[in-house]
Amino acid sequence: MKENNTTCDLLVIGAGAAGTAAALFAGKKGISTAIVGIASHLRFASGLMDLMDTHRTMGPFSQNAPWTAVQAIRTELPEHPYAKLPMETVRLALSQYLSILEDEGLTYHCRSHENVQVITSAGTLKTTYAVPAGMWPMDAVLRQPHPFLVVDIKGLKGFSAKQIMNTLGPHHPCKAFSVDISQASGDFPAEQIARMFEQGDIRDHVVSLIRPNLQGMAAVGFPSVLGVCNSETVRLSMAEKLGVPVFEIPTIPPSIPGQRLETALVNQMNKQGVQAFLQEKVLSVDRVSNRGFECVVGRLHPQTTIRSRGVILATGRFFGKGLMADRKGLREAVFNLPVLQPEDRKLWHNKHFLEEHAINQAGLETDGDFRPLASDGQPAHPALFATGSILAHNDWMRKKCGMGVSIATAYAAVSSFERAMMVKEQPIEIG
Ligand SMILES: Cc1cc2nc3c(=O)[nH]c(=O)nc-3n(C[C@H](O)[C@H](O)[C@H](O)COP(=O)(O)OP(=O)(O)OC[C@H]3O[C@@H](n4cnc5c(N)ncnc54)[C@H](O)[C@@H]3O)c2cc1C
Repeated sequence: MKENNTTCDLLVIGAGAAGTAAALFAGKKGISTAIVGIASHLRFASGLMDLMDTHRTMGPFSQNAPWTAVQAIRTELPEHPYAKLPMETVRLALSQYLSILEDEGLTYHCRSHENVQVITSAGTLKTTYAVPAGMWPMDAVLRQPHPFLVVDIKGLKGFSAKQIMNTLGPHHPCKAFSVDISQASGDFPAEQIARMFEQGDIRDHVVSLIRPNLQGMAAVGFPSVLGVCNSETVRLSMAEKLGVPVFEIPTIPPSIPGQRLETALVNQMNKQGVQAFLQEKVLSVDRVSNRGFECVVGRLHPQTTIRSRGVILATGRFFGKGLMADRKGLREAVFNLPVLQPEDRKLWHNKHFLEEHAINQAGLETDGDFRPLASDGQPAHPALFATGSILAHNDWMRKKCGMGVSIATAYAAVSSFERAMMVKEQPIEIG
């Protein structure tokens, strides 16, 4: 039984990285906006912001020059979403996004022209563009020859200081140390441990355990569980008590940095007056006309009908369920839009695991305004846009451009929506 009706100018479908970015950019511009989707999806991401890493033709040495890589992709892969955008738009989108997070007290750091390196929970090194303030000291620590201490916490799954030490090897000398903060047996969710670190007495206890092991150590790395809220206060108080820099190392999902990101984005959306349906999904699209869209939203049962002049589709790929796969192939789940995909299922995957897989290029083809194309090659609707990982030609895992593409295309899709609303010959009004 539907209970409510609501209207807005722009409906964003999907509340992952791309959808929340689109809703925020639209809210900031004063566009009346609603968003539907499961925001807790963001907890599965690491909280790192990749812009771009390696390319086939540039070779691995390009990893330190992300902007050069973004520029080069225009000639190497002209269909890539970045290639549809002026460089200036990518820069603007990213800097506005980071400043929105800063307004919520969630500071990110980056070098302007270089990627930074972080240690993963497996002990490997990962290249990324911008990192939360809590991870920022890690880049400096990795560039210097002095040993550091890596601490793990009993009961936190998927994070072993010993494994990190062994995998990092002699290039990055470190010592492993374990602390027990609960005295209870069994596994603890990361969030429970993070909340314990918000208590001063727990921090004092951890500091007292670590201090005797600090001799010769230039810094201390913890799993990223140093508080859910006020994590910078928690981290800096630990650093002050230990007398050396303290940094956070990303953990396996669900991640606390992802949760912090979600909290900051949701707070900002509330402040911008975005109508948020963050536990729900679009169950059906009841009406699409040149005048707008009518979408039915709910968790399991229809609860609200949202009428909007335009839609930004940000439902992701397989993880987000924006694309569905069956024996016949791939289909787009909300509007049944054509999906660029290999002709045959046999072509989805390469026999060599580490090579490119065609399935990772699957998604929606769009015009230069990020409007998905119908089967006749024309935009499916003048006010329907797509952003994020649902876009075709975007192997974000391999090119390490997940957040960068999500943010930049969200920004561009909102600008395209604004332009579409101004086209007088094609008035798009809600009926
Ligand atoms: C485990 C993991 C680690 C990652 N690590 C990094 C990293 O280190 N650096 C980096 O830059 N990027 C990383 N990313 C990628 C980054 O998060 C991506 O940019 C992102 O996943 C793509 O975002 P998206 O919003 O397009 O899709 P998704 O994140 O998949 O979000 C899709 C959203 O659509 C919603 N949705 C689907 N169907 C409907 C419907 N019918 N109605 C309403 N809503 C719907 C879902 O609920 C979800 O909210 C990681 C992602 C994952 C999963």
